[in-house]
Amino acid sequence: MTGLRGVGMNADGTLSATAVGKLAAGMWMVSSLLVVSAELLAPGHTSRFATVAIGLGALVSGMALWVLPWCRWPRSVTLWLVPLTFATIGLDYRLADGNGFLYAITFLMVFAWLGLAHPRGTSLKFAPLLIVAYVVPLLGGPAGRSSLGLASAVYVVPCCVMVGEAVAWGMALLADTEWTLTETQERNVGIFEQAPMGIAVSSLDGGLVRVNAAYAKILGYRPEELVGKNLQEITHPDDWTDTSTHMAAAVAGDVEAYTMEKRYVRADGHMVWASVGASCVRDRAGEPLYLIAQIEDITERHALRDKLAYAAVHDQLTGLPNRTMFMDRLERLIVRAERRGRHVALMFLDLDRFKLINDGLGHDAGDRLLQRVALRLQASLRADDLLARFGGDEFTLLCEVASEEEAVEIARRLGAAMDRPLTEANHEQFISLSVGIALSSAETTHPTALLRNADVAMYRAKDLGPARIALYSEDDELPTAEGLRITNELHRALERSEFVLHYQPIVDLHDLRLVGMEALVRWQHPTRGLLGPVEFIPLAEESGLIVPLGTWVLREACRQAGVWAVKRGGADQDNSRLNMSINVAARQLADPAFPELVAAAIDDSGFWADHVWLEITEGAILSDPVAAVVTLGRLRDLGVQLSIDDFGTGYSSLSYLKQLPVETLKIDRSFIDQLDEDPDDKAIVRAVIALGDSLGLAVIAEGIERSSQADELTALGCHLAQGFLYGRPMSPAAIGSFPNDDLVGWPGAADLTNAR
Ligand code: C2E
Ligand code: MG
Ligand code: MG
Repeated sequence: MTGLRGVGMNADGTLSATAVGKLAAGMWMVSSLLVVSAELLAPGHTSRFATVAIGLGALVSGMALWVLPWCRWPRSVTLWLVPLTFATIGLDYRLADGNGFLYAITFLMVFAWLGLAHPRGTSLKFAPLLIVAYVVPLLGGPAGRSSLGLASAVYVVPCCVMVGEAVAWGMALLADTEWTLTETQERNVGIFEQAPMGIAVSSLDGGLVRVNAAYAKILGYRPEELVGKNLQEITHPDDWTDTSTHMAAAVAGDVEAYTMEKRYVRADGHMVWASVGASCVRDRAGEPLYLIAQIEDITERHALRDKLAYAAVHDQLTGLPNRTMFMDRLERLIVRAERRGRHVALMFLDLDRFKLINDGLGHDAGDRLLQRVALRLQASLRADDLLARFGGDEFTLLCEVASEEEAVEIARRLGAAMDRPLTEANHEQFISLSVGIALSSAETTHPTALLRNADVAMYRAKDLGPARIALYSEDDELPTAEGLRITNELHRALERSEFVLHYQPIVDLHDLRLVGMEALVRWQHPTRGLLGPVEFIPLAEESGLIVPLGTWVLREACRQAGVWAVKRGGADQDNSRLNMSINVAARQLADPAFPELVAAAIDDSGFWADHVWLEITEGAILSDPVAAVVTLGRLRDLGVQLSIDDFGTGYSSLSYLKQLPVETLKIDRSFIDQLDEDPDDKAIVRAVIALGDSLGLAVIAEGIERSSQADELTALGCHLAQGFLYGRPMSPAAIGSFPNDDLVGWPGAADLTNAR
């Protein structure tokens, strides 16, 4: 309770019963003393004794009034004092032959009291009584005085009522104002204290004057612990300069308010991020009084924002910078290197055979491998180099170098880092890197150009084989652009079934009878016509498209073999049993699901597994000999026959050859070419045939174009042959529904009639 309520005022502006009673008693005594002293001082007074007696009586009765237990009675009881007072005033006037002025004044005082002590309207209610009480004592006095006194009732009575009502009205107004003020104050205090937001009032130099519970909670203090501290003590040292600059601007009036994000130091020493909105409160004259600040804890939001910002420029899997950050750095590094007269080396690193691992062992294993590769690479870099993951199995590296040699040296180091196997769950995984390098120069300063060049170089490195490094040169341009175009076209070709198979006869050299056919893929290109495998197989292998393409070839060749077998008399007829040779690429062989694909293709075709010859190049076996032995074993279990294609070109280790479950060696065409002229070739072919004999393997000679070659081969003891001499690869439509055993109808075969 503050203000008027502290002295007993009610909400409507009236006083409490005690206050009213005591006020009445006080006024009673004061007015009595006034009247008495005025009477005594007035010259020519007639009845001093009566005056003193009345005065004393009033004093005593006033004191008695003072001590009455007003608090126990309702305030309306005090209204009984009004007629009593009127009577006393009248009596005093008559007995003491009182002064007319004082007589009127005392009535005014009574009404002033009514106004103070009772609600509005009370004075009005007492107006009739006032008229009577005022007039009656005046009657019967000396004629002149009496009529003057009676006349004075005309203004005294309204005056008294007006004074009473005015005071009551004033009191009510005062109470209203006070009430509103108090309520506003209390509400403000409530808002301040209970606000969910931290609020602090500080002096202009940052001394905390008042803080609410939320503010203290954010900072880990109790409110009273914070009061008296300076903002600097709880602000993170790095953010104090900013904070004080903002505060000074607000105090100086340069800004009306300011907002900022800053760090506070909590009581436990931890840091808390807060969003702060503050302003300076001023007096009427515009002088700054204090600062008020609201703060909100945004630590979590900040952490999330940091996380998002981090995620935006980092690769989730490896934690390395991603493409966005890489490109951003690239731009800056080019400028810096140029200033220093050095070069930026941009390297594209691609993991060889990664797709095989990913497809073969599953994506989780692939992911783990990428993580380990990232770590391994990072460990072999200098602090300033920036390694990023560009996507898939592609990493990029940025470094500042003085020369091409330095860049190549770094690339070598990265390659060497992959020499040790990456071991997981006791399984050793070897992986190598193809690296394409492009250096910035006066002509190549644009980031995307540099990136493109490195990409082009990387493709060339891939072309060279696994684990190669290639520096960008302008000569790389055309084939790569063409290559990319063809790769895109290949995708479409697969979707649109633009591939066809042609079949080339394989014959028995002794009787020149057809023993089988090799399926050779061609691309019926919409604009370029029929394309041979050399034009697209390397790209299909590089892009991985060889896997779906090879699967199609496998199924289609088996299907066609099945159809021909039926036409030739079915299972009962011996001559229906033509062999079907199908080429298998390294990537297909590396797919652990490949044997199942083969089994399904054979099942669906109704052809015989033991008449399917899968041709595998030495390279496919050598890229992962251990896995190859396992897969070939599974294929062998299906009953299919296995041939090593292009034998002699891949430096097969003879010890492997012994372990491989193969039936046939196909001597590469390059040895047959000059067989009839070059003694070295002849020596090689003889050795291969001898090797085949000793290992129990059949030997097929490829690319026989001339009968002289055929004669040499027959003399050397070769049994099977394939070449234009016996027939070119042809479409099934051209071959007809029944491939002729004596090769009638095959182009070139006509010349053979004499040879047989
Ligand atoms: P390859 O498996 O060694 O097939 C034999 C190649 O030698 C064929 O070339 C064939 O047309 C050619 N040829 C046969 N006899 C003669 C001859 O007397 N003289 C000359 N100059 N060439 C002869 P083609 O069809 O161009 O195929 C080239 C290579 O493409 C194949 O060599 C094989 O490695 C690959 N290839 C073909 N089809 C497929 C396929 O379906 N899958 C896979 N992965 N590779 C395939
Ligand atoms: Mg072949
Ligand atoms: Mg071959």
